[in-house]
Amino acid sequence: MVRIRPLFAVLFAIGLSTSAGATPPPQASSAASPPIAAADRPDCVHRDHHLSYSNDGDTIQSFTVDCSRPPVTILVSIDGFRADYLTRGVTPNLNALAADGISAAMRPSFPSKTFPNHWTLVTGMRPDRSGIVSNSMEDVALPDKKFTMEDSKDPFWWNAAEPIWVTAEKAGIRSATMFWPGSNVAWGGTMAKEWPNALTGGVRPEDWWPFDMVIPGNQRVNGVIDWLRRPPATRPKLITLYFDTIDTAGHTFGPDAPETTRALGEIDATIGSLLAGLRQLGQPANLVIVADHGMAGTSRARTIAMDQVASPDDYRIFETGTFASLYAVPGHEAALEKALLRPHDHLQCWRKSEIPARFHYGTNPRIPPYFCLAEIGWLTAKTTPKKEGDLGNHGYDNLAPEMSALFVAAGPNIKPAGRLSSFDNVDIAPLLRDLLGLPPGNGLDGDDAPFKGVLQ
Ligand SMILES: [Zn+2]
Repeated sequence: MVRIRPLFAVLFAIGLSTSAGATPPPQASSAASPPIAAADRPDCVHRDHHLSYSNDGDTIQSFTVDCSRPPVTILVSIDGFRADYLTRGVTPNLNALAADGISAAMRPSFPSKTFPNHWTLVTGMRPDRSGIVSNSMEDVALPDKKFTMEDSKDPFWWNAAEPIWVTAEKAGIRSATMFWPGSNVAWGGTMAKEWPNALTGGVRPEDWWPFDMVIPGNQRVNGVIDWLRRPPATRPKLITLYFDTIDTAGHTFGPDAPETTRALGEIDATIGSLLAGLRQLGQPANLVIVADHGMAGTSRARTIAMDQVASPDDYRIFETGTFASLYAVPGHEAALEKALLRPHDHLQCWRKSEIPARFHYGTNPRIPPYFCLAEIGWLTAKTTPKKEGDLGNHGYDNLAPEMSALFVAAGPNIKPAGRLSSFDNVDIAPLLRDLLGLPPGNGLDGDDAPFKGVLQ
């Protein structure tokens, strides 16, 4: 698209690219204006333009700028990026984006685990309703099968809540996922129970990559930029991008370890390469950068052996770690309840129906009948561990400050409004819907209230 504008407007627009809150300059109207005017798009106006000089002195009469690229919405997850990691002084790119847009300490949903929260982020539904209640699951409706992070392709587990890329695809908005839990699933489809487990129906993003942890961050970014190099007809308008290294470092070394801080710097540089790639293309982008949860330091010395809490004769334990979930051995319910439901140091157990309401957790049939939550920094294990394990973990009370998650958003449709009050991560899907021009969802657990007055 060609735009004609006087020199002062050009210079003003260039200056605007880094200044916050300035009024957009006047500009010539265009018959086929994009949804966002060029003057409101500092990402666009100062890049890849071609100046045209007149011959009457040194006045620039006009210039052309390719503002034909509508903004893309890019949802980035930096797994395990605790909200306060932004203050370590090693993330200049993320801090600059926060200064140019908005940021907050975001509350994860309970339990503060990876798969439940990634699914909540893209569906706007809490784990108890979204169906992804934990990283490992069983369901009586699918006997002899187990959901794990490594084996999660059956749409059965995911079909209770529609992810944003499916909503987008249904609305004709092309989507592409560079990793996201659930993005490799034919959502809404059915998988045959018997080998070769044929799939029927279902919707996937138009482009998706199966998760592979060994693909380095820069290669993931290059994949995203390559998608954006495509001609308009096949270029995605919604993209997800996922990074795992900060979570891995946090688990292995602990949240305060130098290795974790080093990983922060590396991922920030990768975000920098994403920004550089977008700049080079002249591609305006609304970036929504989130984490699924934070990280707390853990230690073998702060471990609760569940066989010391109740008799193993009375239960079958399903998960351990920051929480333990258990089934009673049939006929042993009373004995198990007597042992579990009394007070414990650093641990609290409930019948699933009596988990406190603020957790919004306990009605889903996939949650085992008994649930024990460790105090922050403590762990459960089947038996006393013999050696030191991970030095960091998550899954705790979602209101614990250690669990709070990164939120930074910036782009042409986001005002530089600074730090927002904390909000629940169920509000991210409604924000994405706003950015994509989709109507508000029905029956979601969140809404776009935290972003009122912040979008433009
Ligand atoms: Zn995670």
